[in-house]
Amino acid sequence: MPRRRLDPPPPFCPNPSCTSHHDPEGWRYKKKGFFSRTRGPRHVQRYICQRCGRNFSTQTFSPTYWLKRPDLLRRVFWGSLSCSGLRQIARETGVSHLTIQRLLERLGRHCLLLHEALRPRAAPSEALVLDGFRTFEAGQYWPFDLNLLVGESHFVYGFNDAELRRSGTQTEGQRAKRARLEAAYGRPDPQATRRAVEELVGRFVPEGAFAEIRSDEHRAYPLALRNLTGRRIRHLTTSSKASRTTKNPLFPVNLADLLLRHGSANHKRETIAFSKRRQGALYRAAIWVVWRNYMKPRSERRRDAPPGVEIGVINERLSLSEVLGKRLFPWRASLSRWLERCYFGRIPTRRMTRLRRHVLAYAV
Ligand SMILES: [Zn+2]
Repeated sequence: MPRRRLDPPPPFCPNPSCTSHHDPEGWRYKKKGFFSRTRGPRHVQRYICQRCGRNFSTQTFSPTYWLKRPDLLRRVFWGSLSCSGLRQIARETGVSHLTIQRLLERLGRHCLLLHEALRPRAAPSEALVLDGFRTFEAGQYWPFDLNLLVGESHFVYGFNDAELRRSGTQTEGQRAKRARLEAAYGRPDPQATRRAVEELVGRFVPEGAFAEIRSDEHRAYPLALRNLTGRRIRHLTTSSKASRTTKNPLFPVNLADLLLRHGSANHKRETIAFSKRRQGALYRAAIWVVWRNYMKPRSERRRDAPPGVEIGVINERLSLSEVLGKRLFPWRASLSRWLERCYFGRIPTRRMTRLRRHVLAYAV
């Protein structure tokens, strides 16, 4: 009879309200048979927690937990980075576009936690470049900035969102439509960029630390940085009209913008694959950040190490199997308020009144 492979022991109780979830010291569990699946691993060991009585299995600790098509997770990961829209990936994989959307959301949540677990905790040892990557949700009348904070090493420290009012040259008709939409759905907060930048920089520059922040001449940035008390911040600005060469002090963020637009279907100009919800764009951005920081060489031509190796947070580039190696639980990480809202899908889209939050009890 063929021997079953030995499963690693479960590391902690997956139930967030069980004391053994956070502190598995002295934790006791019992094996409780097996179940069979049509996809690999076909034979799954089940367990029961002796403290809270929750049933779980080895699959509980895999990012493919509860998936009928675990094989799709890898394909959706690469599809989201290869300029494919949801329906394009769906056609290629033979499933519904809603399945692809849910898998992208799961990958986004996983990548948010993975980056949070790997990123440096101490004050950045390099200059940081800040910029707002302009895109839109739900239609051209609802632009928003994906604020990016990138190091000189090209390591993307983090991002967040700031809702904007449609600006630029508009016809009489467009202006009237904007007024109609704003009357129906409300007007974005004029302070959104200042608040978002304050949150973003505050997340990565701890109190008492020094940081050099480079940016363009956006008027909200100095106000945001001034509000960050307890930190010493040197703010250097460069005109956004300066040529965008490698010599430009903003080069790391200019390159990040370029790569993000190059690989993401939702950020192409004049696309119909734009994100219908800001939350969707943020999940996709999290996937892109993990790929950029931990998987992609800094230079495609030299095939060198990714930025994460350069700043010493990982020893060598991660493969997709390593990235998707184990499931991460949000309750075991200390998430900032914005990250928690983003993880649980609570970033609203003004145009859509119903918020599709992440509230699943098990498949978190
Ligand atoms: Zn338990």
